[in-house]
Amino acid sequence: MDDALSSLLDLQGHDICFLELSNQLKAVPIGVDALLAKMAKIKAVFSEAESLYQLKEVRRREIDLKIASQEELIVRYKTQQISVKKNEEYGALEHQITAVRQEMSGLEEEGIVLLMDLDEARAQLAEAAAQYKDKTAQLNEALGMLKSSESVLKAKVAAAEQVYQAALALLSSDMRERYEWVKKRVARPPFVVPLKDHRCQGCFLKLSQEVEGAVLTVGYAPCDQCGRLIYTAVI
Ligand SMILES: [Zn+2]
Repeated sequence: MDDALSSLLDLQGHDICFLELSNQLKAVPIGVDALLAKMAKIKAVFSEAESLYQLKEVRRREIDLKIASQEELIVRYKTQQISVKKNEEYGALEHQITAVRQEMSGLEEEGIVLLMDLDEARAQLAEAAAQYKDKTAQLNEALGMLKSSESVLKAKVAAAEQVYQAALALLSSDMRERYEWVKKRVARPPFVVPLKDHRCQGCFLKLSQEVEGAVLTVGYAPCDQCGRLIYTAVI
């Protein structure tokens, strides 16, 4: 393998390293966003459980207050019954007492169901709160690690770019142009690939005899399918 090709392969190695690190760095904010979205989601689930529990508590207090006021009402009606003189008035008050008692009885039933419901909801809420705390702690830890990896990656990317630029400076202008031309055509590495089984090892298509002949004669030539530079180590 000639020196120019060897330098080109060195450059590609440094370039791949630089590109991989750059991609890892680009992925950091995406990872941060994903973690924040997860945190928001588990917070929403917990808040919903909390709101449902609070609504039940509010209803329970409402029932207690209503029952207490109905008890007072019954006492008042009974007091009035003592002072009324007419049977009709007494009967009307009795009728009202019965209606209030019926309403009270319905509320008491609802209250009993609600109390049992609240016991279960309280246990579920405690479990949800514990899970929320655990998951939030885990996600915060992951977030911290991801954020601290960002500064490490930035330094690595900067160092890898310097190495890449230094390798690029060592390249002949012909090889440099060839490499940059491939990079404009091919989105991802590898950009320089070996010849194997009459195929380009980038797109894996069979080469024309003309291209294969050029590779075997000169040592390298562009793939007529994908544009990657194909080389052979044979010559
Ligand atoms: Zn190809």
